Amino acid sequence: MKAQCEMELESKYQLPQKLLALSHAKTWEKAKLEWVDINNFWWEENYCLCGHSIIENCEIVNTKNGSSAIVGNCCIKKFNKQLNSHLLFSGYRKILKDETKSLNATLINWCYVKGILNEEEREFYMSIRNKRKLTLLQLNMKIKINLRVIRFISKR
Ligand SMILES: [Zn+2]
Repeated sequence: MKAQCEMELESKYQLPQKLLALSHAKTWEKAKLEWVDINNFWWEENYCLCGHSIIENCEIVNTKNGSSAIVGNCCIKKFNKQLNSHLLFSGYRKILKDETKSLNATLINWCYVKGILNEEEREFYMSIRNKRKLTLLQLNMKIKINLRVIRFISKR
């Protein structure tokens, strides 16, 4: 997967022009600033907008005109590193394997933006996510939130 990603960086790489066509702005430098929302993410054999095969799918949304596109996780890194899509996948994978583990900060914030967590829950989670010892109440609260996150993301 990685080798393929790097290969795609060559001149025939199609992602910028394809995303530009779906954007409001007319130049790629401006257009890529419109693609700052990851609406959902999941694992599935599929094709990225750039044409290469992917497993880690991200549905990105243009915040200016509402259009959306499916892009591989590795391609997102190429035009917006700040989206940290790989942390969404790694954080989600972790709680799928073990629901008593903690979400990472990127995923907590993403869940907040998507309305899966409210402000209070986000603050709670941020304050306990790196603690080794939780009270039973805190642990139960964390698991309850984790299960809700799993339900939401798997439903997409
Ligand atoms: Zn791609």
